Amino acid sequence: MESGNHNGGSAAKFPAIKFTKLFINGEFRDAVSGKTFETIDPRNGEVIGRIAEGDKEDVDLAVKAARQAFDHGPWPRFSGAERARLIHKFADLIEEHVEELAALDAMDGGKLFLWGKLTDIPVTAGHFRYYAGAADKIHGEVLKMTRPSMFGYTLKEPIGVVGHIIPWNFPSIMFAMKVAPALAAGCTMVVKPAEQTPLSALFYAHLAKQAGIPDGVINVVTGFGPTAGAAITSHMDIEKVSFTGSTEVGRKVMQAAATSNLKAVSLELGGKSPLLIFDDADVDKAADLALLGNFYNKGEICVASSRVFVQEGIYDALAKKLVEKVKGWTVGDPFDPTARQGPQVDKRQFEKVLSYIDDGKQEGATLLTGGNAIGNKGYFIEPTIFADVTDGMKIYQDEIFGPVMSLMKFKTVEEAIELANNTRYGLAAGVVSRDIDLVNTVSRSIKAGAIWVNCYIAFDVDCPYGGYKMSGIGRDSGLDALYSYLHVKSVVTPLHNSPWL
Ligand code: NAD
Repeated sequence: MESGNHNGGSAAKFPAIKFTKLFINGEFRDAVSGKTFETIDPRNGEVIGRIAEGDKEDVDLAVKAARQAFDHGPWPRFSGAERARLIHKFADLIEEHVEELAALDAMDGGKLFLWGKLTDIPVTAGHFRYYAGAADKIHGEVLKMTRPSMFGYTLKEPIGVVGHIIPWNFPSIMFAMKVAPALAAGCTMVVKPAEQTPLSALFYAHLAKQAGIPDGVINVVTGFGPTAGAAITSHMDIEKVSFTGSTEVGRKVMQAAATSNLKAVSLELGGKSPLLIFDDADVDKAADLALLGNFYNKGEICVASSRVFVQEGIYDALAKKLVEKVKGWTVGDPFDPTARQGPQVDKRQFEKVLSYIDDGKQEGATLLTGGNAIGNKGYFIEPTIFADVTDGMKIYQDEIFGPVMSLMKFKTVEEAIELANNTRYGLAAGVVSRDIDLVNTVSRSIKAGAIWVNCYIAFDVDCPYGGYKMSGIGRDSGLDALYSYLHVKSVVTPLHNSPWL
């Protein structure tokens, strides 16, 4: 493993931290309490900077600004084309700052700088462009009334002030997934980034202001979940909360919504997604998909294919191939362009993943490779593969959110479907086979929000994304996400001179 100096020997410039305060009503300001918290570099455990620690009073101020911007400001009253123009400008500025934004996420979250530059930040800008393109196409419908003397139509109106609570694994893409459709719909908002990765959200707030998005439309309150996050979910003046994170906190978000003002809630939660590899698969390609599904973003991805089911005819060959391939995997400084995997996001997550690896060892799974921390500085873990995993084991049941793959064997298609659905989650699934009939049968039988056939982690801004079962409620991405930030209002009137009673 490469040792972690600040620039990892790459040409990437380590950016200065410019924004550390809350962003409320178009201005950066300290928390009311004056408190701050540390944001930590997971490559070495050192403090990157101190960030304003928002709490209930700060959320109140942010909601007040968003309320004012919604009730009296120009944003919801602009034409869709005008909103689109400013959102495109925001996307232009994001594209002008790709390196700086990718570097912020790399130092704050241990994410690969190169992937950030090539994927996360362009995808973030792409979300803003996609929804800018939709902002002037928000139509109601003319209704087919039962009584011909009546005329009815629907209006789609922005839902109001929205709270977005986002996790640390994709700080930029998650920001865009939530903020872009809400902006296009004409909503105003309060965003709470994860406490582990607050830096890029504050930078986006600065760029939004530069783009000309009016003050109060986007507010960012950095801080912790049980304080700032809970103040958002229980706020009486927020109409909707969009949350991505753990199932456990998702439950609390729903409870808070229910006991406050019954605000709308969308939840994108955990997963334990199956990857089904059938006997007719190309072993080499299937191994690459399993590695991508498990070790992309160091396994810190809710759609990780952490249960890999392999048909018995190729099980041994695939296990061998995976181990061979993973030997060439470089775990190291995320600024090193040769690194395939960076450090886990923080000490807590690092210890949690290592504890699951211990469970796997103790519960009798066969450790094929990995299983250890790397070095004595930072939060690096070897890509780890267990075989002979059974459904009673913790590593089979729980979302680990780290670079840990579990391999299981199956015989028949029916058994594969049953195993795939044998989980409380239902976020995503992969199917690897060249048999079209089999693929179609399996795709229809799995209870999950996304099915990737002969590919994996094939996200696209136009693909609605969300969970079945305990993986959540509602959809991010696609036009479904835009509609979730809109009310539908019915307007009915009698036609001229027609009796309406
Ligand atoms: P989390 O659910 O605790 O945190 C996600 C966000 O919710 C953060 O912004 C956090 O501050 C906020 N939050 C926490 N408690 C809150 C509360 N009571 N009220 C309102 N907001 C609150 O997730 P985590 O601790 O960052 O990670 C724990 C686990 O969550 C991971 O191991 C993984 O299983 C899962 N996770 C899933 C995703 C995903 O994309 N679905 C992303 C990150 C984490």
